[in-house]
Amino acid sequence: MADHYLHLTSTATGRFLTRRLGLPQPQRLRRWTLESPTLDGPLLHLTAGESAISDKLRAILAKIGPEATDRTGHPAGIILDATGITTAAGLGQVHAALHPVVRSLAAGGRVVVIGTPPSPDDHHQAAAQQALEGFVRSLGKEIGKGATAQLLRIPPGAATSAESTLRFLLSPRSAYISGQVIELTDATPDPVADWAAPLSGRTALVTGAARGIGASVASVLARDGATVICLDIPQAEEELTRTAARLGATALPLDITAPDAADRIAAAAPEGLDILVHNAGITRDRRLANMPAERWASVIEVNLDSVLRTTDALLKAGVVNRGGRIVATASIAGIAGNNGQTNYAASKAGIIGLVRSLAPHAAADHGVTVNAVAPGFIETKMTAAVPLFIREAGRRMNSLSQGGLPVDVAETTAWFAQPASSAVNGQIVRVCGQSLLGA
Ligand code: NAD
Repeated sequence: MADHYLHLTSTATGRFLTRRLGLPQPQRLRRWTLESPTLDGPLLHLTAGESAISDKLRAILAKIGPEATDRTGHPAGIILDATGITTAAGLGQVHAALHPVVRSLAAGGRVVVIGTPPSPDDHHQAAAQQALEGFVRSLGKEIGKGATAQLLRIPPGAATSAESTLRFLLSPRSAYISGQVIELTDATPDPVADWAAPLSGRTALVTGAARGIGASVASVLARDGATVICLDIPQAEEELTRTAARLGATALPLDITAPDAADRIAAAAPEGLDILVHNAGITRDRRLANMPAERWASVIEVNLDSVLRTTDALLKAGVVNRGGRIVATASIAGIAGNNGQTNYAASKAGIIGLVRSLAPHAAADHGVTVNAVAPGFIETKMTAAVPLFIREAGRRMNSLSQGGLPVDVAETTAWFAQPASSAVNGQIVRVCGQSLLGA
């Protein structure tokens, strides 16, 4: 379903009219293309507080884009190292660093504040570092012009673990992500031979891949070099076969709730899996008072229970290789709740619980990371079926005033899936344009 309003505000007349009426002004987002894979301008490096940007961080940033040489231009990205802020008074340094330059950020630009995990033992440091979260979330809401703001927490001394994440956040691939807090571990990244094809040599399986977000995930993983197996229900086999053929992938018609699903997946991947994406999902909306038990049960079964079952079985059987990546699909409904979706929101909140609990154990026992995407309003068949008024509200009620595209979720999944993303573990990253709903 095309976003006609976004089209209207892309024209001079439409922009004039909607501005006069005080209506939202979405900026058309620039996403990754082969011809234009990076941001269109230099990166401004700033520091707040005592520390200066570490040499390790500077070396990574130098690989991502040229450094802005003065403060008078329009940087495409502003990176603020705020790891040295340990007191409430020190927060003034954040204001001092960003206040003079924030207005000059280019349209579609990126602000990335680098923080460090709040300390469980030093409540002054914890207050100061947690303060950065409120700061970044507010900046994301006010910055405008299709620009985004994120907080990246890096444990002390672990800057090298941040390369894949900084590359992602400071690129057009993260166009629809804003107001997020990502906390890295100090795990050493697996080496990347070629940043243009970071998934080459890796085998990925994507559930629900016949159409929508899953088809886009399969496509982006294949673009990044992975060998892909597309799984979907046997009833969708025709569409599944077409999607798989288009991507040079293998089709696996299989209902993920089947009792032998894990065995069938293992048989389809004799060399094991490096990337497992749980994307299949369904909605069966009704208010709780009107919801029959079957509608409740089917949503929990597809969206949560089958994810738990297959993950456990594939990890136990060693089908997910060491260095593997598991990516599950939550939803902002699982964070904020949604009228008529008690079953769906329960299943998606369950995914968040699964990810947070399993991630450290999967890393320690299997060398595997576990993360989730939490999409907001994404333009798919699922959201095209939403009634017009609610659909329009869903599209506009976020900092970027527009819906996301399946590719936005796919790019996030591909970043989680990279060998260099070993330090990204147990994270729930919302792909929602910073929806007004939820935290
Ligand atoms: P979609 O309905 O277009 O695609 C879902 C796919 O999953 C379909 O191809 C379907 O056949 C498949 N599937 C359903 N049950 C299955 C089963 N038992 N076994 C195997 N495959 C099965 O949906 P979408 O919009 O692409 O959503 C993909 C995921 O993203 C879902 O988990 C959904 O809950 C989540 N999500 C979507 C949005 C959105 O705005 N579209 C928002 C938040 C979360």
